[in-house]
Amino acid sequence: MNASGLSPDQIKLQARVRELAAGPVAQRAAEVDRTEQYPWDNVELLKSEKLLGMTIPTQYGGQGKSWLDAVLTIEALSATCSVTGRIAVETNMGAISAVMAYGSEEQKKMAADMVLAGDKPAICITEPDAGSDANGMTTRADKKGNRYVINGRKHWITGGGVSRLHLIFAKVYDEKGTFEGIGGFLAIRDETKGLKITKREPTMGLRGIPEAVIDFEDMDVPPSALVIPPRGLKKGFADLMNAYNSQRVGAATVALGIAEGAYQLALDWSEKRHQFGRPINEFQGLQWKLADMSIKLSAAQALVYNAARSGEGGFPDMLMAAQAKVFTSENAIQIVNDALQFFGARGYSRELPLERMARDVRMFTIGGGTAEVLRNVVAGALLKKKLPQTRDGWAKD
Ligand SMILES: Cc1cc2nc3c(=O)[nH]c(=O)nc-3n(C[C@H](O)[C@H](O)[C@H](O)COP(=O)(O)OP(=O)(O)OC[C@H]3O[C@@H](n4cnc5c(N)ncnc54)[C@H](O)[C@@H]3O)c2cc1C
Repeated sequence: MNASGLSPDQIKLQARVRELAAGPVAQRAAEVDRTEQYPWDNVELLKSEKLLGMTIPTQYGGQGKSWLDAVLTIEALSATCSVTGRIAVETNMGAISAVMAYGSEEQKKMAADMVLAGDKPAICITEPDAGSDANGMTTRADKKGNRYVINGRKHWITGGGVSRLHLIFAKVYDEKGTFEGIGGFLAIRDETKGLKITKREPTMGLRGIPEAVIDFEDMDVPPSALVIPPRGLKKGFADLMNAYNSQRVGAATVALGIAEGAYQLALDWSEKRHQFGRPINEFQGLQWKLADMSIKLSAAQALVYNAARSGEGGFPDMLMAAQAKVFTSENAIQIVNDALQFFGARGYSRELPLERMARDVRMFTIGGGTAEVLRNVVAGALLKKKLPQTRDGWAKD
């Protein structure tokens, strides 16, 4: 797939990353899945190719690249290794972009240095009893003298156990116990006492990145750990979740890249595989399947690229990011499933990447806001109503 409207530099970037994806990244993908080991060698590769932290502004050591540049990178990597694609998401979008937009100078420098050195920050929102309804979180930060003491449990935290920098969302209470809003606190694994990785989730796919339960037990941080957007703590969660629109576009891009990779495999195989004395792509049933796959991919790519473009100079538009993620994640599951079908029994074998892709792609209608909750976001934007059933830091005025 290649949508028009890319600059010559973007076409060069895309070609360079596609080469990496087809070479060293593809070679490691099956092993990363089988061993469930975080691919530190791929992190080094991305670092040496200046693909980590590329969206970080130049004054903090990054390259100030656009969301679309990051999207092109993630899309190409995900076609052969979705885990490496996700690492590119989380070192260019999400928590890091929230800190770079709203952090203090000290916080920005620290986060940028960590990411550029190879750290993939973790964002900690979800709790066992507060998933889609993130406002129902019970993790709390109590002000005690000149410190905050944080207690609670988060689960399904991507990178738990490999990430060092954590952006942790908690309900903030002043010294009298009055609720002030939901705030995002920065903490560093192995440095901040009381941050404990307590379980690794056994996942269906995307097995090269751990998903973890993290407990905060009297985790003690100074007020300078709190990231406070300009509208203050009361609107802080909503503002920080606005930064999360970039992560949603990134997640949609991983799904897009996986589906494109699977489609290409099916297209190639359909010419090679002969049955009834002819290539299987001479059967109209399969020709129409290929046509439908390519139509869905073109539409998904346009939604993703447009959502990325909508964010230049700020964050991607909430409506466009939600539309892109719902459409792409749902269609990508279908496309990968169809691609697997082209291979018959071979598609069901672990010797080919299709079954891994089918497991990996299944995640994207869930993580980062489910397809149902994102439909609420879309409906809220269309109706111009602030719906409480979203995950975007809705707060009563
Ligand atoms: C691989 C993976 C990585 C993740 N990484 C992170 C991470 O790094 N950090 C983090 O904080 N979280 C992470 N998550 C958690 C993810 O954001 C949540 O799983 C998601 O928000 C849904 O929450 P839940 O699982 O509790 O489902 P629930 O909220 O319990 O939802 C269950 C079902 O009900 C539906 N539903 C709920 N409310 C509504 C509604 N109002 N209208 C219609 N349907 C509704 C949901 O769509 C879903 O189908 C990750 C999840 C996965 C699978």
